[in-house]
Amino acid sequence: GISIFWFRRDLRLEDNAALYHALKGGHPVLPLFIFDQNILDKLAVDDARITFIYQTVADLKTVLQKYGSDVLVKYGKPEEVWPEVLREYDVAKVYTNHDYEPYARERDDNMAEFLRSEKIEFKTFKDQVVFEKGEILKSDKTPYTVFTPFYKQWQAKLNDFYLKAYPTERYLNNFFKTKYLPLPTLKEMGFEVSKLAFPKISYQDKLDSYANERDFPAIAGTTRIGLHLRFGTVSIRKAAKDAVDAKSNVWLSELAWREFYMMILWHFPYAAFNSFKKQYDHIKWRNNENEFKAWCEGNTGYPLVDAGMRELNETGWMHNRVRMVTASFLSKHLLIDWRWGEAYFASKLLDYEMASNVSGWQWAAGSGNDAAPYFRVFNPELQTKRFDPKFEYIKKWVPEFGTKKYAQPIVEHKFARERVLKVFKEGLANS
Ligand code: FAD
Repeated sequence: GISIFWFRRDLRLEDNAALYHALKGGHPVLPLFIFDQNILDKLAVDDARITFIYQTVADLKTVLQKYGSDVLVKYGKPEEVWPEVLREYDVAKVYTNHDYEPYARERDDNMAEFLRSEKIEFKTFKDQVVFEKGEILKSDKTPYTVFTPFYKQWQAKLNDFYLKAYPTERYLNNFFKTKYLPLPTLKEMGFEVSKLAFPKISYQDKLDSYANERDFPAIAGTTRIGLHLRFGTVSIRKAAKDAVDAKSNVWLSELAWREFYMMILWHFPYAAFNSFKKQYDHIKWRNNENEFKAWCEGNTGYPLVDAGMRELNETGWMHNRVRMVTASFLSKHLLIDWRWGEAYFASKLLDYEMASNVSGWQWAAGSGNDAAPYFRVFNPELQTKRFDPKFEYIKKWVPEFGTKKYAQPIVEHKFARERVLKVFKEGLANS
């Protein structure tokens, strides 16, 4: 028999936990990747992430072909693909890495049951994070909902053991030998080839200056590693070790924010679709569709907001400072349900991560686990003064800024501020 290693969002051969255990597990290993119709059917045909995944899987195939092996690529629903795989191969064991989003948990629970019924061992591993699930808990064994104490313990527990790479390179001869296996085209799966430029994995040169530069959207001061962490083209252990070695504590803490939000999503999955603070689901959103459209397109007449939305639409990325401003503007100035904005970001961000996106949005709307009180409303003009004082970022994305062609403000700041305070107060009082 053979072992199947199931690639999902861990698209690399180096330092991959489940792959390492598979290669050492005593059976030849055939890697599998499924283009999952349950996920793909909901995406736009020009979704750039599918091109990224496709190119990455194609590269993995090329590397493995050098070892006389390959990646088995399937297109379909996992619940239909797996019985097919078991008919085609004599499978003894299946290895994969943990995945914490609600859909993934359900998929993997079903898979565990199915494989058990087929008498096949299903082995799963932590790979996507340094610390997962219940590894960092309060002394009463409940999860943290505030970052600072979580991070204190995260840092205290961090040591070489947790950052050590899994040396898969020692076992590359243990892949299953096979003739070339086919790769369906993007077109056959209903997608267009995206022309977006994907960021490279090159964060080392940013780590020293990160703390000083990360807040200014006109500077390329952040690493753009999000896409690679999302799809596992970089190992989190390597990234965290590099942060420690470079003594870049601020950047290390950002990696911990990512894990904090993943831990929150694991323990509170309801908050992926509902307000974490449940009373916030009593707020009467205005949900004006024309205003939502203006926000999506970057035509609100608030230059920092518009610059951010246009950057997102054109590149699939938006600077963190501006993500905060645009999210606050939608949920507070326009009183549009944070879920609308969350869904829009989810459709556009190359680095989309459910845990971080949902929490980022709930933080901005005030409904999140660790959010500022709702009466703190970002003032886009003050944010511009502090973080883009020379309008460099704004002019890059909104060339008509300062001319007659530029849109009038969609709503007056002072009026919007008073309105949101009133509506939030009423909503929370009704809960
Ligand atoms: P860097 O600043 O170089 O940071 C390195 C990595 O640390 C990031 O790639 C990310 O994995 C992690 N990180 C950094 N800041 C945060 C943070 N505040 N929360 C969680 N992780 C963080 N991040 C996502 O990865 N996916 C999302 O879908 C996402 N949606 C967001 C939505 C809103 C409304 C807000 C306010 C923030 C969101 N963030 C999201 C967090 C943050 O904006 C991005 O991680 C960051 O801008 C990505 O750029 P970078 O890769 O250059 O990050």
